[in-house]
Amino acid sequence: MILVKYRIVIDRVACIACGAAPATCPEVYELGLDNGKNKVVDRYSVKTDDNISIGEIPEELYGCAKAGADVCPVNAIKIEKVEE
Ligand code: SF4
Repeated sequence: MILVKYRIVIDRVACIACGAAPATCPEVYELGLDNGKNKVVDRYSVKTDDNISIGEIPEELYGCAKAGADVCPVNAIKIEKVEE
């Protein structure tokens, strides 16, 4: 069985903390209490620091995550398919 997941990479330097991604997909994104910028929620976060937030989400959250990425005005969210 091939398990499909998606990797989310948020450029927190580019993020202007507009809140659009978390508003569109709160299941995956939230504004961090650290610097107010977008991050992957703790449940799916693999690594989050001042500059970047990386997470892995199950396939069923792809549509939500993609919608959040699509509304980003500075194109700070990338989504890559991961197959294991
Ligand atoms: S939509 Fe883009 S700029 Fe706005 S909070 Fe999300 S990542 Fe940051």
